[in-house]
Amino acid sequence: MTYRFEHETLGQRVVFAPGAAATALAAEVERLGAARVMVLASAAEARLAREVTDGLPVVHVHDEVVMHVPVPVAERARAAAAEHDVDLLVSVGGGSTTGLAKAVALTSGLPVVAVPTTYAGSEATNVWGLTEGATKTTGVDARVLPRSVVYDATLMLSLPVDLSVASGLNALAHCVDSMWAPRTDPIDAALAAEGIRALDAGLPRIVDDPGDPAGREEALYGAYLAAVAFASAGSGLHHKICHVLGGRYDLPHAATHAVVLPYVLALNAPAAPDADARIARAFGTATGLEGLEALRARLDAPRALRDHGFDEATIPDAVAAILPSVPASNPATVTPDVLERLLRAAWEGATPR
Ligand code: NAD
Repeated sequence: MTYRFEHETLGQRVVFAPGAAATALAAEVERLGAARVMVLASAAEARLAREVTDGLPVVHVHDEVVMHVPVPVAERARAAAAEHDVDLLVSVGGGSTTGLAKAVALTSGLPVVAVPTTYAGSEATNVWGLTEGATKTTGVDARVLPRSVVYDATLMLSLPVDLSVASGLNALAHCVDSMWAPRTDPIDAALAAEGIRALDAGLPRIVDDPGDPAGREEALYGAYLAAVAFASAGSGLHHKICHVLGGRYDLPHAATHAVVLPYVLALNAPAAPDADARIARAFGTATGLEGLEALRARLDAPRALRDHGFDEATIPDAVAAILPSVPASNPATVTPDVLERLLRAAWEGATPR
């Protein structure tokens, strides 16, 4: 095996502090010398945000959070940050909340400290996303990478099991897609493999005992590794498909990932035997798909896009919208026919083959 690759490691402090987010966050705020903090958290995340930001120099709490960050929502958050003359953004919430903080950082250059409450992983990437009408635009900018992330798995205890499963499978999708995404390298593959192992171990424990932080901690560790791999490897076919489905038809982000992943794995595995062997080893199964399907069955995972608001009649429109963004390096050849079959199978929840 030859090792010839380029890899960029993003500069970010990461603090795992189970049960101690407030103390760890206060230390990060002090380290950055911040005196005027704007907290971003949706109404559903408000209680957690109050708990972890108690005692910080908070000058404004912004709670208008909308999935996929519509531009007018970003504009209002940017105006609030300017009006309150803030010097630090602290996001407490899922990927939508982190995404809003990133949108403010993108235009203001303000530093962000992220306290995630789902397994989405946005906090570990330099990718921002904004939605205008039905079009979601993403980009890469160093300014949006949070300076620090504080991970505390006890904050996830209030995340309902179905959302935990979907969000955890979203993290798993970062791992699987990182095996063949355009900029993948051996470091990304190593992180992704360990991410798969940790998520496969942690997620069933959440389903078995949602009140036990141990499974959440294992899943959170896996979700972080997944996001680091994804940030470096870039978006593979799976993410390109989900990006269009989420932005164009307003489908729920995490559930869409959970449904689509096995179909992309089934398509790519025969054309990417090394990646499949790596995924299989991480699951401890004969093939990657066998491991993924066993985990999905154990988690009673979302199975069909039709259950999540995707209309069968829009499949041709989706095929046309996805095709131009299919990575040229995708292991399997993706024709309109292949994509149509994949989306139809995902729509009805057919057995992935
Ligand atoms: P989300 O942030 O929309 O959260 C889902 C729901 O769970 C919301 O109603 C939220 O209020 C609630 N919630 C969050 N944490 C909770 C908790 N601990 N207890 C109870 N309720 C809680 O969903 P998500 O899947 O975390 O994030 C999706 C968004 O993140 C999408 O827009 C996606 O594009 C983006 N994302 C971006 C990146 C990136 O690198 N830029 C990576 C992953 C996801």
